[in-house]
Amino acid sequence: MMDDLALIAAPAETVVSPLPRRTFAIISHPDAGKTTLTEKLLLFGGAIHEAGMVKARRERRNTRSDWMAIERQRGISVTSSVMTFTWRDVVFNLLDTPGHQDFSEDTYRTLTAVDAAVMVIDAARGIEAQTLKLFEVCRLRDIPIVTFINKIDREGLDPFALLDEIAGTLALDVTPLLWPVGMGGLFRGCWDIAGNRPIGQQAPDGGPAQPVDIPPEQLTELREAIELAGAGYPSFDETAFRAGHLTPVLFGSALKDYGVAELLAMLADCAPAPSVQRAEPHPVAADDPAVTGFVFKVQANMDPNHRDRIAFTRICSGRFQRGMKLFHVRAGKTMAVQAPIFFFARDRSLAEEAYPGDIIGIPNHGSLRVGDTLTEGEMLRFTGIPSFAPEILRRIVLADPMRAKQLRRALEDLAEEGVAQIFRPMLGADWIVGVVGALQLDVLAARIDAEYKIPIRFETAPYATARWVNCDDARRLKEFVDANQASMGLDRDDSPVFLARDSWSLRFATERWPEIRFSATHEQA
Ligand code: GDP
Repeated sequence: MMDDLALIAAPAETVVSPLPRRTFAIISHPDAGKTTLTEKLLLFGGAIHEAGMVKARRERRNTRSDWMAIERQRGISVTSSVMTFTWRDVVFNLLDTPGHQDFSEDTYRTLTAVDAAVMVIDAARGIEAQTLKLFEVCRLRDIPIVTFINKIDREGLDPFALLDEIAGTLALDVTPLLWPVGMGGLFRGCWDIAGNRPIGQQAPDGGPAQPVDIPPEQLTELREAIELAGAGYPSFDETAFRAGHLTPVLFGSALKDYGVAELLAMLADCAPAPSVQRAEPHPVAADDPAVTGFVFKVQANMDPNHRDRIAFTRICSGRFQRGMKLFHVRAGKTMAVQAPIFFFARDRSLAEEAYPGDIIGIPNHGSLRVGDTLTEGEMLRFTGIPSFAPEILRRIVLADPMRAKQLRRALEDLAEEGVAQIFRPMLGADWIVGVVGALQLDVLAARIDAEYKIPIRFETAPYATARWVNCDDARRLKEFVDANQASMGLDRDDSPVFLARDSWSLRFATERWPEIRFSATHEQA
């Protein structure tokens, strides 16, 4: 009855404002608990109803072959790339970053599409190598970070030691919000510092938290520790957090449901809503009325035998509606987006409309690439979605020279997806592939074999690294290229790349040619 009345009362043109968005990723070292935490967030958001789902999918993905087998089941990895759920009237878009030890460009690029990150740290291990690398990417973009120190139900390092390590290693201010009430055998729960109250285990169904029973002696110790922490660490400053200078820290246990609701509340209350995105010729505000977005990831569709792709596109402004015609700025063409996809934990659906911060999947046949901008007609380009200078370069050797054309096609397809970068040397006929992490090479070989049936092998290339070269003086650039032909290649956009034999020759070239800029990152022209 109430609903009917409300419907009648609302004037037809009333615009229902969309729910707030929080678009974020979780970064961590393998085994710190990212999968467990992801699953708990989805349970709290009602996106899944039983534990074990995310888990089962990733169970054994720590070895390379398992990871690839899983990755090859495209359906699974497509649907799990973005997970959307709603909690207390906030829509959360959780973007998955690949969880394996090796680094890939995918991870970097996914972080270009988020407004905040949750850094999960194992309380027994502190900051590990992978955490540090991912953190550096977040810092490049000033992405605000919430730290979740996980597994406090087990024996861990001293809380002060953990906080000091974060502050020292990452050069960040830290503000503890939840403190562990004991760890391991003495673990009782969490303490909400601002609320001055204990926080017990809270089931994902939203029911009340379990009471926490703290023996008097432990309570005295706890109060002392919290007093010390209050004196030693700055209080929470939302501006500093949003600028990426301060990280709020929550001690919790993803597995045992401690601190997960508080983490969600922190993201809902303090993490930034989608705001301004860097673009040329001008930045784009989330409340700009015209629809804009950029592609940050491209993935082959379910069926590896079809060259269908899904371009993961972050909406940056406007209200996107299905069927809209969007202008593909790089190609200079308009495309009708008839079947955009929303992703959920379990499945996907047609996206009827999407708002800034949302991720839609746009099916296409290879026209959309990572870094592409879509607008309602404006000549605009989102920036800051770079390619990274490869750290490993290999020459591709084709067993059957008759298949050079197919190989070219395969490499171009896979390069578009961001599996690897490809370079054509100016002298010589073999393709050079470049990757940031060694796992990318395995994936490239496996996919050329499985999807294109082209037997190839990699040979060591006589290059150690690559740099995009540029110069304000076109004539000088040409002189450089001519003088270094044996070390020059073109990337897939035909931008010139200096393929250096070793760090010494790179240094030599930079000293010898001071007018030339050698860049380790490259944005699509
Ligand atoms: P990922 O590699 O970062 O995704 O880590 P997982 O979520 O797969 O967790 C790694 C291991 O740590 C698994 O055996 C989890 O059950 C366990 N784990 C995760 N969170 C907790 C926690 O809060 N407490 C304890 N005791 N174990 C946890």
